[in-house]
Amino acid sequence: MADTTPIAESKPRTPSSNTALGAAKGVRSESPLVDVMAGEIRREIRVHEHGFVALVDAMPRLVPEGQTADSAIVQAARVSYGQGTKKVNEDRGLIRYLLRHRHTTPFEMIEFKFHIAMPIFVARQWIRHRTANVNEYSARYSILPDRFYVPTADSVRKQSASNRQGGEETFSPDDANEVRTAEDFLALLKDVEALYPRYLELTERGVSRELARTALPVNMYTEWYWKCDLHNLLRFLSLRMDSHAQQEIRDFAQAMHDLIEPIVPITMEAWRDYDTGAMPLTRLEIEAIRDIGSGGKGELAGDNKRENREWQDKRTRLGL
Ligand SMILES: Cc1cc2nc3c(=O)[nH]c(=O)nc-3n(C[C@H](O)[C@H](O)[C@H](O)COP(=O)(O)OP(=O)(O)OC[C@H]3O[C@@H](n4cnc5c(N)ncnc54)[C@H](O)[C@@H]3O)c2cc1C
Repeated sequence: MADTTPIAESKPRTPSSNTALGAAKGVRSESPLVDVMAGEIRREIRVHEHGFVALVDAMPRLVPEGQTADSAIVQAARVSYGQGTKKVNEDRGLIRYLLRHRHTTPFEMIEFKFHIAMPIFVARQWIRHRTANVNEYSARYSILPDRFYVPTADSVRKQSASNRQGGEETFSPDDANEVRTAEDFLALLKDVEALYPRYLELTERGVSRELARTALPVNMYTEWYWKCDLHNLLRFLSLRMDSHAQQEIRDFAQAMHDLIEPIVPITMEAWRDYDTGAMPLTRLEIEAIRDIGSGGKGELAGDNKRENREWQDKRTRLGL
């Protein structure tokens, strides 16, 4: 049976008719608020010839004068204890404690939004970091501009002998054979670049952009907006500024680091002290150190070659 209630009799529900809600109340900051990006809508660092990392927004954007965006971490952390923000030096101690003990959620209260242009091969590594929000340039919708990543002649790297994933040393300028190999590689990149006018021409003749792009190389540039909270951004930086990461993505990670450093200086100092500048020790390594302490050679139990190499590196760092 149809509902016969006349429309005029049904009362619209508005927030003011809901007795569970009080009126909105604002709380003003005791100190004037300042913009952590100093009024800029974009702060950019160029990376290589065609790339860039631009910081386009941050949360919190406004903080009480005399504080940094680090204060958002403290604000969230102190909710656990029902206390507000204290003095800056106490805040610093709390941030360092939280980072040291991996209390991570307060660091998720800070967010950064970047606009980045990077080669597609860098983007492929970057996109593996799943906790960011990403919106990428569409090469189905638009023509890819003719920007290609080409290393400089003196920065073409040789395949590493010890690490199958890496390229380490550059070709020697004093060895004619090596110079020729580096030049041949750069010539190959030029050949690949020369395919671009054919891509353009075929799209003009009606080939769909989504298919035409499949003929383009991975050293072409793409762009995206990338938003991430500070906890996950620190993880990204730890992995991608590390010496095991490919040099090109390290250059981008370094630019991101340099952009956020002045906005969250207390966190970044703690991150250097407890993460990138720190060193985890395995149980076997601790036993080896104890062995050195009691006059032994400090050799690692077991015969795993890679683990032994890592232990030798740590020994060198520790001066043991
Ligand atoms: C030097 C180097 C070499 C690499 N080599 C290779 C390679 O050869 N092949 C390859 O495939 N990859 C490779 N990677 C990529 C690597 O395996 C990771 O995919 C990448 O570093 C992202 O790390 P992540 O998953 O911790 O980051 P994020 O995706 O940002 O995730 C951060 C954290 O969130 C949590 N998380 C995120 N998503 C999930 C989920 N769905 N379920 C549960 N927890 C989740 C996890 O704790 C994770 O550690 C390499 C990375 C580096 C740095």
